[in-house]
Amino acid sequence: MSADQWTGRRKRGGDLTKLDQVIAEARRSRSEREKGYREQSLRIHPWVCARCGREFNRANLHQLTVHHKDHNHDNNPPDGSNWENLCLYCHENEHRRYLDHLAGGGSESVEDPGALKHSPFAALAKLMADKKMPD
Ligand SMILES: [Zn+2]
Ligand SMILES: [Zn+2]
Repeated sequence: MSADQWTGRRKRGGDLTKLDQVIAEARRSRSEREKGYREQSLRIHPWVCARCGREFNRANLHQLTVHHKDHNHDNNPPDGSNWENLCLYCHENEHRRYLDHLAGGGSESVEDPGALKHSPFAALAKLMADKKMPD
């Protein structure tokens, strides 16, 4: 009986450490992905601005940017369906329109770092509650 409780407790503690690793890993691979999507989009789509049709070559390619159609930079399907090659001007225009659309809501980033911390602490509180139980 008590042996089961011990292994159960140890297993849960291990999961917390694993969760930290998973989060760290996810952050790392996400920044790598963000670096990679422009390259991928330029490989898939023609070097032409999707708005004004301006053509690009190796000399001015740095002026061609990759826009996320749904404005979600985490949405990077490998088929490029969420990417659009836009020149700097059209890209800026597109974002200004999007901001106007939001009407100053400023809710583009809904990432809540507290949410990640919250669940391990909740698990910890539960662990401590469990600890009292056998008494
Ligand atoms: Zn353009
Ligand atoms: Zn954009």
